[in-house]
Amino acid sequence: MKRSPKRTLALIAHDGKKADMIAFVKDNIEFFKTFNLVATATTGKLLQQTGLKVTKVLSGPIGGDAQIAAMVATGKVHAVIFMRDPLGMHPHEPDIYSLLRICDVHDVPLATNPSTAQLIVKGLFKNLLL
Ligand code: PGA
Repeated sequence: MKRSPKRTLALIAHDGKKADMIAFVKDNIEFFKTFNLVATATTGKLLQQTGLKVTKVLSGPIGGDAQIAAMVATGKVHAVIFMRDPLGMHPHEPDIYSLLRICDVHDVPLATNPSTAQLIVKGLFKNLLL
């Protein structure tokens, strides 16, 4: 069955998790090709090197997470893969928690590590989540 309109995924990775994100996306590249992709600036720039089309918002520390939270709240983003670095300090911690909270408020699928991201990929492939 055709899913219409095309769904949008948001991708964010902290610096300590960017390599994990790129590896994850490359491993699942055919899946990601079937979605509109939006990402924070640096994550998005790296993802574009895989050949994927990615719309970039601001970098996380200067408001990118807040922009993606607003897109979740307004129904423009349908799932979020956010590879957080739980061992790092982040100046934009309030924005990070806001994004997590907004995903919960709107019941939008949110993965914060590769194992959960893999479950989202499997669920979306089977049309279980969206
Ligand atoms: P970045 O932002 O992709 O621009 O590095 C991610 C973040 O730190 O929230």
